[in-house]
Amino acid sequence: MARYASAVCRLCRRSGEKLMLKGSRCFTPKCAFDRRAKPPGQQPIRRRRISDRGAQLREKQKARYSYGILERQFRRLFGEAERQIGITGENLLMLLERRLDNVVYRLGFADSRAQARQLVQHGHIIINGRKNDIPSSLVKEGDVIGWKKSSTKSGYYQQVAASIESKVIPNWLSLDGENLVGRVLSVPTPEDVEAKFQGQSIVEFYSR
Ligand code: SF4
Repeated sequence: MARYASAVCRLCRRSGEKLMLKGSRCFTPKCAFDRRAKPPGQQPIRRRRISDRGAQLREKQKARYSYGILERQFRRLFGEAERQIGITGENLLMLLERRLDNVVYRLGFADSRAQARQLVQHGHIIINGRKNDIPSSLVKEGDVIGWKKSSTKSGYYQQVAASIESKVIPNWLSLDGENLVGRVLSVPTPEDVEAKFQGQSIVEFYSR
């Protein structure tokens, strides 16, 4: 599956804010945004004012970068959000949150969504007892997310188990910290999620 493969810290600098794409490194002095908040590349002598269209594009890119999704897949998800009843921007956020790689990240099984995606793709994660190696799968209410039996013997699993206590789990998920098994209590609502982008700007961007 295609994914963005260049230096992700450039994406934070391009977006003008910390998107927390590198897990624990984002909280250290090594964070590239903290060291140099300017956009990457050569800087123009005069700073240009950003247009409405530019601001909308920036919001869309922030959402895409945060969830590690390429344009085509993001556009498809937006189409699905449009077809659903309700506010399209909120529907989009809910669909993004329900992605399996995001849920694995939210449960604290990985430090970043990129790492969570790798865990899923490598077949370590099961849903309702069955292996699921598709990061874009959408979870639903009642789903149980756990680890493949053989993966529980790995050093990484032990590492996660040792640090899981310190993780903060969102309200719409629950976690059995002893067995590292999560459950989807309900589909997330906009109140459950603190978005780093404005859904309405993304709707306006695609409405042109
Ligand atoms: Fe962004 Fe994290 Fe890189 Fe800092 S360390 S620039 S927050 S991805």
